Amino acid sequence: MNDMQTEVLPVDPIHPDPAIIARAAELLRSEQLVVFPTETVYGLGADALQAHAVEKIFAAKGRPHSDPLIAHIADEHDLEKVASNIPTIAWKLAHTFWPGPLTLILPAGPHIPHVVTAGLATVAVRMPRHPVALALIRATGSPIAAPSANRFMHVSPTTAQHVLSDLSGRVPLILDGGSCTVGVESTILDLCGDIPTILRPGGTSLEALRTQLPTVQAPTRRAPQHKERHDEQQALKAPGQMLIHYSPSVPAFLFEGTSEMIRATMLAEVQRRQAQGERVGILIADEDLATFQESGALIYTLGRTNEPEQIAARLFAGLRVLEESGVQVILCRSFSEQGLGLAIRDRLLKATGGKVFPA
Ligand code: AMP
Ligand code: MG
Repeated sequence: MNDMQTEVLPVDPIHPDPAIIARAAELLRSEQLVVFPTETVYGLGADALQAHAVEKIFAAKGRPHSDPLIAHIADEHDLEKVASNIPTIAWKLAHTFWPGPLTLILPAGPHIPHVVTAGLATVAVRMPRHPVALALIRATGSPIAAPSANRFMHVSPTTAQHVLSDLSGRVPLILDGGSCTVGVESTILDLCGDIPTILRPGGTSLEALRTQLPTVQAPTRRAPQHKERHDEQQALKAPGQMLIHYSPSVPAFLFEGTSEMIRATMLAEVQRRQAQGERVGILIADEDLATFQESGALIYTLGRTNEPEQIAARLFAGLRVLEESGVQVILCRSFSEQGLGLAIRDRLLKATGGKVFPA
């Protein structure tokens, strides 16, 4: 289905032109797809209340129907358009963290089509913080279902260019609002079980959630697995948790330990692979630069180790730049798990399929 002309329309990320938003909203109302920026990553949007429109998301991404979508709203009171039996804690969290990168799992309302929820009795919902996303949802007059605007299993897009390289010819319109500021997807918090549990760490930190919800359960650690089944028949609880979900198209490895250990083992691995004639790409911190400057590896620096916001914002772009540069392998350093670090580690584990040094 690469038969469509894809238009990329620049839009001011702070004060979006109402005429551009109106055009995009008109497309959404007529069951078409629109890609738009959010503060986390770019979203591939459809009117969440029109099942026919939402179907097109799965076709464009090559995403299995077992993987449910997040419904995006522009006002916390619109929670009632998508969810039912909303617990008090959900209102409190919405009040504290919205607009922002927190997705709540709640009992699904009666008007949400099954294609959005993958047939589950629950629905994922969030209110994004990006002015373009908010304006678009309001102009459409309906919640917008939107997963990340990448091909299924690929790295999430944080620029319109990333979207174009995955979805050119598959969507009619991409609103280009520049780079996403958070750069990793939202935190998904399940409020439907006995204990509120993080299903996916993301742009809202565990520490911040604990201030409002001390009982919140951290995401469960998963044993690294190189291959995972994707069962079309059975919706997974949080399919974004698959380890290979965010993979770049070349093999990647994650280096753990103290900074000194990481530099030593990574440099040795760069040299070993280069001696075999391999082209090596490395994803490192600013502080690592001196070690690798002369190594011959292709270098992408993410920022300083104590600035997880900057690292998160550059992470997906770094993976894409390296994979497009023609390297045969990507070596990534690991970071502290504090704050956004938990989400960064999760995405690095997914990008590397859990292939960790030292094993
Ligand atoms: P994406 O926007 O591409 O990160 O995909 C949305 C993710 O939200 C899915 O992969 C799921 O992990 C999660 N999700 C959506 N709906 C539900 C739900 N009802 N229960 C649990 N997780 C969900
Ligand atoms: Mg995704």
